[in-house]
Amino acid sequence: MAPAPPKARQLRAIRGMHDILPGTSDHWQTLEDQVRAVLDSYGYGELRTPLVEVTELFQRSIGEVTDIVEKEMYSFTDRGGDHLSLRPEGTASCVRAAIEHGLLDQAQRLWYRGPMFRRERPQRGRYRQFHQIGVEVFGLGGPDIDLEVILLTRRLWAALGIEGLQLEINSLGDSAERATYRDLLVAYLQDHTEQLDADSRHRLGSNPLRILDSKNPDLAEIIARAPSLLDHLGAASRTHFETLCAGLERAAIPYRINPRLVRGLDYYNRTVFEWISTDLGAQGTVCAGGRYDGLVAQLGGPPTPAVGFAMGLERLLELLPSRQPAAPDAYLVAFGADAEAAALHLAEQVRAALPELRLVCHCGGGSAKAQFKRADRSGARIALVLGEAELASASIGIKPLRGAGEQQVCPLAELPVRLPALLQAAD
Ligand code: ATP
Ligand code: MG
Repeated sequence: MAPAPPKARQLRAIRGMHDILPGTSDHWQTLEDQVRAVLDSYGYGELRTPLVEVTELFQRSIGEVTDIVEKEMYSFTDRGGDHLSLRPEGTASCVRAAIEHGLLDQAQRLWYRGPMFRRERPQRGRYRQFHQIGVEVFGLGGPDIDLEVILLTRRLWAALGIEGLQLEINSLGDSAERATYRDLLVAYLQDHTEQLDADSRHRLGSNPLRILDSKNPDLAEIIARAPSLLDHLGAASRTHFETLCAGLERAAIPYRINPRLVRGLDYYNRTVFEWISTDLGAQGTVCAGGRYDGLVAQLGGPPTPAVGFAMGLERLLELLPSRQPAAPDAYLVAFGADAEAAALHLAEQVRAALPELRLVCHCGGGSAKAQFKRADRSGARIALVLGEAELASASIGIKPLRGAGEQQVCPLAELPVRLPALLQAAD
């Protein structure tokens, strides 16, 4: 006997990057459709940008001394020698595109969706390819638009049936206020350097506000006692923040002011916010955003105020009420060579007459028993049966697959009229 050929090595998806299988992709589609409907209703337009950008875009926007740019980006040199990165987030690309296409001569309400890439340690709620839907508004600087994007997120949770999210907000002031505060914070932290971890010591000289964002529980106490930026805001930043708070109260949105909320990216000023779930373990933030008035100019565009947020779809999906994936309505079986040859054509006619119908046509022949077994497994409520007799008489058999009921024969011409009622009866 000849030796069996060696078994080919099985390739797998990259760690932290996941296939989304039929059944699960139904949930994704529902989520995406519902979010899109809400964004449409607020007059936001979708912006689609490439998944790859020059690395410099992220270095200059997200900040050199952030986790993302220091250690999480998938960066490479392409064959032409360009330094490129898979996008780790969406804001930088939106700003780049808005400048490039001259969109900033008027206010813009934009949104985007799609995969983002960060080489983090994979764990629940934290993946290396994950998906976001985000919103960016350009050209509006007041607290009213900050309120609008938060109102929009509340409407999203209601549309999705997600309950129990908590809103946290903070103000990061403007850059002068942050500079003053930064000195105070550094002075405070320098008195406690022995309690800081290596990461935070490193940040002390480069980006001390980041230390407030540390997820290390050992630092919780020293962070809690740190001076608060909110106590060092100027009049304009304070009024902006207070107006937003008043708007939230008027809209009856409960919120918590969290003076340690600084967000993981460098470009924010004034308003920052997060929506947090207590049902997701350590990775509880499902939506995060804020104002970034300096970023457009920093990337070479006209001075343009901006505000936005991004939400993580994997985390939101965990919170969605469970739902059965949609099964087909009908499954067409065909017996005998002529009927088999006619089946796909008949299925096309049915689809043309009933565009909403979810119809699966059996392919590959086989015994009646085998075909009905497949029909049953598909989850369809009825089988359409095409045998030689039906073919000869221009009719079709209809057999309920769930519950009782005999197979009946229906003239083909009447199928589009009778099928919807028969499907309802089979429910
Ligand atoms: P975290 O504090 O959880 O690391 P972040 O501050 O890095 O979040 P953003 O960059 O603001 O998050 O992204 C917005 C949202 O995208 C997060 O609130 C989260 O829901 C989601 N998100 C971010 N990173 C990941 C990831 N690696 N895997 C899955 N979802 C993510
Ligand atoms: Mg992060």
